[in-house]
Amino acid sequence: MTKRFVYMDHAATTPLREEVLEAMLPYLQDKYGNPSSLHSAGREARAAINEAREKTALALGAEPNEIFFTSGGTESNNIAIKGAARRQKHKRHLITSSIEHHAVLDVCKELAAEGFQVTFLPVDRYGMVSVEEVKRALTPDTFLISVMTANNEVGTIEPVAEIGALAREHGILFHTDAVQAVGQIPMNVREMNIDLLSLSAHKFNGPKGVGALYVRKGVYLAPLYQGGGQERKLRPGTENVAGIVGLARALELAVEEMPEKSRRLQELRERLIDGLLKIDEVVLNGHPTSRLPGNVNVSFNYIEGEALLLGLDLEGIAASSGSACSSSSLEPSHVLLAMGVEDQLARGSLRLTLGRGSSDADVDYLLAVIGPLVERLRRMSALYPRQH
Ligand SMILES: *Cc1c(COP(=O)(O)O)cnc(C)c1O
Repeated sequence: MTKRFVYMDHAATTPLREEVLEAMLPYLQDKYGNPSSLHSAGREARAAINEAREKTALALGAEPNEIFFTSGGTESNNIAIKGAARRQKHKRHLITSSIEHHAVLDVCKELAAEGFQVTFLPVDRYGMVSVEEVKRALTPDTFLISVMTANNEVGTIEPVAEIGALAREHGILFHTDAVQAVGQIPMNVREMNIDLLSLSAHKFNGPKGVGALYVRKGVYLAPLYQGGGQERKLRPGTENVAGIVGLARALELAVEEMPEKSRRLQELRERLIDGLLKIDEVVLNGHPTSRLPGNVNVSFNYIEGEALLLGLDLEGIAASSGSACSSSSLEPSHVLLAMGVEDQLARGSLRLTLGRGSSDADVDYLLAVIGPLVERLRRMSALYPRQH
């Protein structure tokens, strides 16, 4: 089999698509005005941001004045959660899940250190948060629920519309980290009763370093920074004009192409899963059906995920063990541990995430390469029972 380059790490980031680069280029070159300037170059940049805000709102079922541009998913999550907490006068309790991205989990831990009470909800073995558990965790002191729309490691899609309805019924704010969901599955903030939603452009073939926070009309957050009046003072600082234009164009295209792409990726995903499960002692992590179209996460008994990753890399395949942010540490994934996956299997996990450029040939190549590699690693593993 001839070696090829196969990118199966779209949950970590995605390539910038050509049409998006084209939309951005003028704002990196000739159209360099500051959107706050009153001259025509400034007004031209302002107009581009206004148009991007309209497109972004449209993709989420929101109003343009409910969209705030940020530097990415991490910042959006920080502004949403800390901003809601610091705006609180009396209530001190918030609820989140134990499988959130660190940009939510660690913000909540920080707030706990500041004296807030935080409930970290458990999940079932598929990584699913239960609406009943959310209901049980509610107290008269609860002001915020933050549960991600889809998990970045195992791809499980959470019951956010139901959690949103519950929050609304109790007059509690509902935030969702939708960074993995936006551009991959249909999202509508009105229908899903979402008050605050985080998204990031580089997860849907847009540029890195730009994101957005949807803030429902009538919801007020304390800004984390002080400065100019940009983004209605919620996120001051000169706007990343090219990035914002790129975000909106990428989102527009992702939503347009979603039905077709989603169907195609699901087919590839199922073929990949079927092929991987033919290998001895492999288990699927995450939900069998309520799952992002491009996510595959499996555990190989008797192997370290990192060894597998390096082996795949030598064959030209880019993959991940757990999340990119924690994969430099050798700690097993907090998501898999919260799901009750035993330590051994959690350490042998591999995440393969498909995206726009993924093809049948990619899946064929991965499946051809991985079997022999797993066998080789197991033969070297002290953990592997000798009778095999
Ligand atoms: C990637 C990711 C983030 C962080 O977004 P950045 O734009 O990289 O800061 C947050 N949450 C989830 C679920 C993610 O997948």
